[in-house]
Amino acid sequence: MGKIKAEYIWMDGHEPTQKLRSKTKILEDSVSAVDDIPVWGFDGSSTMQAEGTDSDCMLQPVYYVADPIRGEDNILVMCEVFNADGTPHKSNPRAYLRELSEKYAEYDSWFGIEQEYTFFIGREPLGWPEGGYPAPQGPFYCGVGADEVFGRDIVEEHMDKCLKAGISLSGINAEVMPGQWEFQVGPLGPLAISDELWLARWLLYRIAEDYGVNATLHPKPVKGDWNGAGAHTNFSTKSMRETGGLEIITKACKKLGENHSKDIAVYGAHNEERLTGLHETCSIDEFRFAVSDRGASIRIPMATANDGYGYLEDRRPAANMDPYRVCAAILETVCGD
Ligand code: ADP
Ligand code: MN
Ligand code: MN
Ligand code: MN
Repeated sequence: MGKIKAEYIWMDGHEPTQKLRSKTKILEDSVSAVDDIPVWGFDGSSTMQAEGTDSDCMLQPVYYVADPIRGEDNILVMCEVFNADGTPHKSNPRAYLRELSEKYAEYDSWFGIEQEYTFFIGREPLGWPEGGYPAPQGPFYCGVGADEVFGRDIVEEHMDKCLKAGISLSGINAEVMPGQWEFQVGPLGPLAISDELWLARWLLYRIAEDYGVNATLHPKPVKGDWNGAGAHTNFSTKSMRETGGLEIITKACKKLGENHSKDIAVYGAHNEERLTGLHETCSIDEFRFAVSDRGASIRIPMATANDGYGYLEDRRPAANMDPYRVCAAILETVCGD
């Protein structure tokens, strides 16, 4: 047994979209449970998390996976941020989701998130001609060939490393706009999907860094006639997954419609640039749900309609959404009174 490197990862206080920060702590020995990982701290005045003159914030490890980059017994540690007095920091949205996931545990809710993102080199999306535009959208989605697909080496490495870490990746695909990609995580419970999605995002940034490429989650990275980037959130409860579930899914869609403005407020900044009613989206000012309709706010997959049970796909969340907040909003809206 020797020393290991633990990469502590947390969400900072950046507004309107929180960003990831991380730093390394050397531990004396390898760990076999999250409780073995010590609490740590950081300087909140450098991360927009300082409260007045009191700048010490606490990092509480809450979830960890194998570190697929450093290998051996090294680990990646997702943390919650706490104030010195032990209360959750205001930049800590996981604390509230923890409460809700306990409150609604009996629903046995599952989430599967489709994370779209766009590679950039400097100011241009990866593969785009300098200062110009590629051919119009059409051939790129799930494409193959050097004229259509850009960044596959990074995507493959990211997929391998997520699997090596033990993250529940369920697939990847090239997206509609050149340089844009998607990976899917889940289905998992609310806390696990959110922790794993943040860790998968960290791995994406970290791996792309070695290629001199940056991955952005901006919902509309290129203005104009180009697809935006979303984070479709697929959701089911136990009763939705059983015979008669379609009726429960329909009820949930109606509730989500009644709470559209409340929920959309936490579905990601700049989402109005993406939810225009064009490019496989429904306008941000409207709410519609329908079977198989990729222009609806919520799509009920064909297989779910045919089987009479399954899940719903909330197409509204933007790529830059915080899964802790989105899962909390969906749980509250669907499972609450
Ligand atoms: P799309 O056809 O919208 O591109 P994807 O295949 O990209 O769909 O993603 C489907 C997502 O749905 C995956 O993340 C998967 O984990 C998730 N999913 C599958 N079954 C369920 C379920 N019962 N509850 C919640 N999510 C689910
Ligand atoms: Mn998808
Ligand atoms: Mn997609
Ligand atoms: Mn989808």
